[in-house]
Amino acid sequence: MSIEHIVQDEKKYMMHTYGRFGVAIESGKGATAVDVDGNQYIDFTTGIGVNALGYCDDGWVKAVSEQLNKVQHISNLYYSPVQVECAKQLCTKTGFDKVFFGNSGAEVNECAIKLARKYSFDKYGNGRNEIIALKNSFHGRTVTTLSATGQDVFHQYFFPFTEGFAFADANDTDSVKALLNDKTCAVMMELIQGEGGVMPLEQDFVKDIEKLCRDNDLVLIIDEVQTGVGRTGKLYCYENYGIEPDIITSAKGLGGGLPFGACLCGEKLSAVLDAGTHGTTFGGNPVACAGALEILKRVDNPEFLSQVNEKGAYIREKLLRMDGVTQVRGIGLMIGIVLEKDNAKEVAARCVENGLLILTAKNLLRMLPPLNISYEDIDKGLEILKKSLL
Ligand SMILES: *Cc1c(COP(=O)(O)O)cnc(C)c1O
Repeated sequence: MSIEHIVQDEKKYMMHTYGRFGVAIESGKGATAVDVDGNQYIDFTTGIGVNALGYCDDGWVKAVSEQLNKVQHISNLYYSPVQVECAKQLCTKTGFDKVFFGNSGAEVNECAIKLARKYSFDKYGNGRNEIIALKNSFHGRTVTTLSATGQDVFHQYFFPFTEGFAFADANDTDSVKALLNDKTCAVMMELIQGEGGVMPLEQDFVKDIEKLCRDNDLVLIIDEVQTGVGRTGKLYCYENYGIEPDIITSAKGLGGGLPFGACLCGEKLSAVLDAGTHGTTFGGNPVACAGALEILKRVDNPEFLSQVNEKGAYIREKLLRMDGVTQVRGIGLMIGIVLEKDNAKEVAARCVENGLLILTAKNLLRMLPPLNISYEDIDKGLEILKKSLL
């Protein structure tokens, strides 16, 4: 099918919820995507941080295909060896106590919110249920995770939204304290606000919030949906900050390309969600778990993680030497690029024409390349970017 036909049929048969670039991707390998006309693109997007090891990584394809040939899905009414192994690996590698599996970032954030609220309900009774989140955050598209998202543009049309969220300023401990009251049960935040424009939180602020949570028995929820699974040069980004969250949520890169998510909690919360209080049909799907096991095995390796940091530093240095780039933000291979002309959308569109897929976030260009991208592909992509900045 030609690109024209695909565009026409999409228009005819799909709800128009996405603004798309005029490219239809048919296949890919590593950091290279190929469209229906055979044009190649260097991919700095990984499907928004999903294809952690790039397109169709050999080891990941093997793990997923082998599981696919054994069993594709079973109900959570029965035990699944690959699901239990995946939970064991996640807990062993992170030190968290228990896992709940979902299928997306929003879904595991819902789990985190339910978990925090029930912890408080069980201990303090009804009414202690407010969650402090941060302005400019992003936590998902369900009605409740939209409520948790600290951007007014997301609080439209779908009334009534879930109650019980308040928004503080990032990097301002006093503004969090000002919202704290006897109804507060949790603080929820991203350590690098991804969709909000690749804004890393300051170390001191994060430490302050951890202490505030400890002192007031608030559940500290860290949304690692975008920052997790090696993206910032650690298995999870909270390790960069030296904190111990009560809950982290992980999705995007965790499945390596399949819909998957996990909500992990420490011992304090491990018995809160008991039989009948939460569930999902697809959660912990065996094929997705087999993919995640391969991802975890490959990524949770000191050499692998240090090459993420080295490549991140290499890219930063090259970007800062480009005309038109004024600032580079982020950690590891989660990179935001501030442009002098403030024309990220335009540049991203030119990149596509020139053979590079790149993201935007707010008014920034954003890169989430494969964690194992080669220096050769980095150079190729950056060359195209440089050309497209002019
Ligand atoms: C993408 C994202 C989500 C939502 O994930 P979905 O899989 O799209 O539901 C939540 N939180 C953060 C930080 C994200 O980047």
